[in-house]
Amino acid sequence: MNKRLVPRPLLVITILLLVSAAWWVVARLGLDLTALQNAMSSLQAWYQAAPAVVVLAYVLLYVVAAALSVPGALLLTLAGGAMFGLGWGVLWVSLASTAGATLAMLVSRYVLRDWVQSRWSSRMRDLQQRLQQDGPWVLLSLRLVPVVPFFLINVAAGLTQLRVGTFWWVSQLGMLPATLVYVNAGTQLASIRSLSDAASSTVWGALVLLAVLPWLARPLVKLLQHRRALAPWRAQRPSRFDRNLVVIGGGAAGLVASYVAAAVRAKVTLVEASALGGDCLYHGCVPSKALIRCAAWAHHMRQANVHGVSAQAVTVDFAAVMRRVREVIAAIEPHDSPARYTALGVEVVQGRAVLESPWHVCITLPDGSEQRLSTRAVVLATGASPIIPPVPGIQGAPCVTSDTLWQHLASLNHAPARLIMVGGGPMGCELAQAMARLGSQVTLVERGQRLLSNEDPEVGAAVAEALQADGVLLRLQHGLQAVQTTEHGHVAVITHGEQRHDVPFDLLVFAVGRLPKTQGFGLEALGLQGARVVQSNEYLQTLCPTVFVAGDATGRQPFTHAAAHQAWHATVNALFGWAWRVRLDNQAMPAVTFTDPEVGRVGFNEAEARAHAVSYDVTRYNLAELDRAITDGQTQGWIKVLTAPGKDTILGVTWVGAHAGEGLAEFALAMRHRLGLGAVLRTLHPYPTWSEAAKATAGRWRQDHAPQYLLRWLERLHRWRRG
Ligand SMILES: Cc1cc2nc3c(=O)[nH]c(=O)nc-3n(C[C@H](O)[C@H](O)[C@H](O)COP(=O)(O)OP(=O)(O)OC[C@H]3O[C@@H](n4cnc5c(N)ncnc54)[C@H](O)[C@@H]3O)c2cc1C
Repeated sequence: MNKRLVPRPLLVITILLLVSAAWWVVARLGLDLTALQNAMSSLQAWYQAAPAVVVLAYVLLYVVAAALSVPGALLLTLAGGAMFGLGWGVLWVSLASTAGATLAMLVSRYVLRDWVQSRWSSRMRDLQQRLQQDGPWVLLSLRLVPVVPFFLINVAAGLTQLRVGTFWWVSQLGMLPATLVYVNAGTQLASIRSLSDAASSTVWGALVLLAVLPWLARPLVKLLQHRRALAPWRAQRPSRFDRNLVVIGGGAAGLVASYVAAAVRAKVTLVEASALGGDCLYHGCVPSKALIRCAAWAHHMRQANVHGVSAQAVTVDFAAVMRRVREVIAAIEPHDSPARYTALGVEVVQGRAVLESPWHVCITLPDGSEQRLSTRAVVLATGASPIIPPVPGIQGAPCVTSDTLWQHLASLNHAPARLIMVGGGPMGCELAQAMARLGSQVTLVERGQRLLSNEDPEVGAAVAEALQADGVLLRLQHGLQAVQTTEHGHVAVITHGEQRHDVPFDLLVFAVGRLPKTQGFGLEALGLQGARVVQSNEYLQTLCPTVFVAGDATGRQPFTHAAAHQAWHATVNALFGWAWRVRLDNQAMPAVTFTDPEVGRVGFNEAEARAHAVSYDVTRYNLAELDRAITDGQTQGWIKVLTAPGKDTILGVTWVGAHAGEGLAEFALAMRHRLGLGAVLRTLHPYPTWSEAAKATAGRWRQDHAPQYLLRWLERLHRWRRG
């Protein structure tokens, strides 16, 4: 049994009383320098008379102040300098502050653990994680760069496994520079007797040192961390480098990374194993959007009689559709071609790259020969692979993923008669609807309760309704258990609890997610291979300081525009990080699901806002009210905007309906540049356009938040003026 020396309630009450008392003393003393000076003179006299008593009292007071995290520690440090001078002052302050910090850490670990965790903010959680992962080093850097309040560090460290001894010596060492600077400032402040003293160069020097300490310590910490991470490979570090940057992978992320590097005149090599353009061009956005467009034509032609236009019986020439898809890819291919990138200043090498050390990349060229390049930095832009769940019987059956789907479809003259889509996320919904419109009988199997589970439930419901209207058979809360192949064809065994359905199919498509590629390019040797992703920090730097990562390989938002955004950050940090780093900012990252109705979202939806405990107001605008939606006969859908309570600050927008992807850009712009709905409302929008929906939503927000009190007075004013 875990016995305590002091009963917990008693301990908590004692701590609370001590904290209150300390706060009271600090509040009484204030930060008044004159009062401090007077107190200091008496203390100095006392110190002369009984040095041991004063030191003991001072150290005890300091330990209690630091342990209870009251804001007197800084004042006490300055006082220590003033009283004891630089040498003794540093010694007593250093010992007392470390003892106090360790006590605070122990209180957090053994007494207030539950309370602290119940009030755990995301910032604290992040701090705890960092301390847990790389304890002593993170602690040292946090102590050296005093930007995070010390008491937060103590409390966070209390919730980790960090050993008390380690915490003590790292804190002692890490706080030493700051202690020196503050005690020194204290010795200078003690010498101030008049205004002219305050303006002396030594006093100002001490104060300036105080101000610049964090900026001096930061590069030092970075350098120490950098050196430590690269220590195992130090012997392999070349004295000169062939390249400033080698980019591995020529998809959306790799193309942008190499372009950015070439634009700032870095010597950059882009290595691509297959063809430049990556997933987006060959397996993702481009073929899927081309296919969706063909399917939309078929759908609109079938619906044309609503607009008084009669089309003959609509037939789909599937081979021609797939020809069209290939033509679209071919039309976009030159944008991503080696010729274009070479002209932009990028050296493009076709081959498979493997990282050999933090500074060496070995490329296996198509003829089997090898090229070895040394480089200052590397950007990994190696993308992701579709997940293939371990379903028995899929080998030998026509089961494809996004990587193999397009080649399979291109070999057909007709759309597969019976198609099973496994997965109800964006890719599954988009392709299921398109294939249904092109003539397949589609069954969509989804394990969850609804489609598009990352969106609010009403969004999934609207898309489900639309898919069903297109003839898609939805099997929600169903799982694919097995695939069976007989002489009559292929059958998917789908279950829902005890119920079993055998669904015959001609093509089964897995759309159950994608995982970053982490194997086969040397991550193992560098110790970078995480369980599922290449771990990276907010500067997109991996645990190996010379290696950066961008795009789907990061395991972050799997979109082409996100890949490009990350690539810019990764490249700037890889090339200029020694002097200046840019933190990845994912604010206002839009995402669109290209179903009909389209689903566009930027920022929070309601479910996410609730999960993050963010309060919000909701403004909703139905597209049925928009003139342009009525003229186009596309009135289904709505725009939902979440705003900060009582303010026009946009927290998130969900647009369900036609042109959502295009309309969303205005909200993304507003959010990115901190423009509220008021700014959207004041912007002139052409009539009659879909863009007006944004303005109308902002107008609805204004109506809902009109100052009722003022309006009542205005009503009275007008009544009075009417006589
Ligand atoms: C069906 C589908 C539809 C999609 N639709 C959209 C959409 O509408 N909008 C959107 O924003 N996103 C969409 N996406 C996602 C988008 O395609 C990806 O987010 C984007 O392509 C990621 O780019 P990337 O550069 O990170 O990776 P990739 O494009 O996968 O590029 C990685 C490249 O690295 C190369 N490579 C890997 N290892 C090595 C090595 N060792 N040496 C050399 N080369 C190597 C690969 O050959 C590949 O070319 C879709 C994806 C799919 C599957």
